[in-house]
Amino acid sequence: MKLPEKFLQSLEGLAGFDMEAFINVHEQSAAPVSIRINPAKGSVVSSEWSMVNTQPIIGETEVKDTDSPLTIHHSPIPWCSTGFYLSQRPSFTFDPLFHAGLYYVQEASSMFLEQPFKQLLDLQQPLKVLDLCAAPGGKSTHIQSLLSKESLLVSNEVIKQRSYVLSDNIIKWGCQNVIVTNNDPKAFQKLPGYFDVMVVDAPCSGSGLFRKDKEAIEEWSPNNVQLCSQRQQRILADALPALKQDGLLIYSTCSYSAEEDEQIIDWLVGEMDMENVALQTENWPDIVQTASPLTHSIGYRFYPDKIKGEGFFLACFRKKEKEQASKIRPSKPEAVSAKEKSLIEEWTTTKDLSFIYYRDEIIALSPHLLQEFSVLQPVLNIQYAGVRIGSVLKDKVVPQHAFSQSTILSSAIPATKLIYEDAIKYLQRQDLVIETATTGWQVVRYKNHSLGWINALKNRVNNYYPKEIRILKAQNNIAFKK
Ligand code: SAM
Repeated sequence: MKLPEKFLQSLEGLAGFDMEAFINVHEQSAAPVSIRINPAKGSVVSSEWSMVNTQPIIGETEVKDTDSPLTIHHSPIPWCSTGFYLSQRPSFTFDPLFHAGLYYVQEASSMFLEQPFKQLLDLQQPLKVLDLCAAPGGKSTHIQSLLSKESLLVSNEVIKQRSYVLSDNIIKWGCQNVIVTNNDPKAFQKLPGYFDVMVVDAPCSGSGLFRKDKEAIEEWSPNNVQLCSQRQQRILADALPALKQDGLLIYSTCSYSAEEDEQIIDWLVGEMDMENVALQTENWPDIVQTASPLTHSIGYRFYPDKIKGEGFFLACFRKKEKEQASKIRPSKPEAVSAKEKSLIEEWTTTKDLSFIYYRDEIIALSPHLLQEFSVLQPVLNIQYAGVRIGSVLKDKVVPQHAFSQSTILSSAIPATKLIYEDAIKYLQRQDLVIETATTGWQVVRYKNHSLGWINALKNRVNNYYPKEIRILKAQNNIAFKK
């Protein structure tokens, strides 16, 4: 791996930058593999991960010479309570529990986001959080796991195609308190002072991911760093009015360039009236604390030659300014009929839910989230909210995939257990030849975790796994050998 000369020169003199160690780690070691567990899906790490560790996720290349399962060890990521390094990269695609949303594959340094949430916020309180640049959803799924049930997470992505991927990952995570939006940051100006917390994981020149993404090396140029820096300022300036006074801004990038890191801090403190906030990092002495050149404000740098993870930068701020509230006339969502409500409630764990029509489908929201939904709907392009339930046709619930992934689905719903081979067939949307105890709509489970819906007829089973997210790859047959 040849790192651009101009790039290396531009990092000289930056806090914690050690040219030789930095070049070595890029040339000699691969990025570690790491995952973050989904606490809402009931995973006790040791047991769940040892399940994941058994036969199903056999690596495609590693299996060639062996009949025995790949043993994958895990060790904790120090700054994230649900994060784990894996000793090898399994084939996540062929692990049904990955598709069931039991964990998210995420780079370890970026899981440091947990620290500002834990250190600077009262997470028992209901908080309104905006994740402004959210696709594909690594930080959003992490934030969701940290927040109380009464909190709201608005997870936004400006690029439409990427916002669909974001919704898919939010659905897989199984949560109810997230609203996914597809808006330009400017749109949030219509919500002055609305959010308690704003996370801006900004689009950047990507040098922090050079070990994982060789294309990023080709695309790197000083000019692109300048463009990214200007875009980062624009994004922040556009969205900051939506943060309330004393609200917390968490800014992060996966770039090492000062133009995108310390210089943005200086601009936020010097020109945007933000107050820099420090974190306790004594427990992790290899995370480099950096001070910005003009205002001496603090940020945190992650170098792969110092910590086990990729390049990352994070800094925190409180907003000093108070915004003038603006009046928004909330929308009046169309509620389902009493009959429809009682039919759906037979399928849910709780009766404390509101059901409304959104884009011709029924969605479930907790009552407090319904209020926020009504405020947000007139100003934002809402892609997904709460839990997509489906529809009621001829007094029967016709469920949507998202419902099967959610934690509000009643455990009394009929279910059929699948063995590993059938689970993979199901996820590939192939025909299943299986016995079911009953006919009609039911979930299929793998190791007790729902993968999605089937409709069992008398002589066949219809597979309702969504085709947009089905596994497209064929699996190496050797992987089935025991
Ligand atoms: N936070 C995400 C995660 O943890 O999975 C990664 C976000 S990525 C670093 C930055 C995101 O910003 C991308 O999804 C990109 O599409 C989006 N983006 C690009 N240009 C943008 C703009 N002008 N305003 C807001 N977001 C933008």
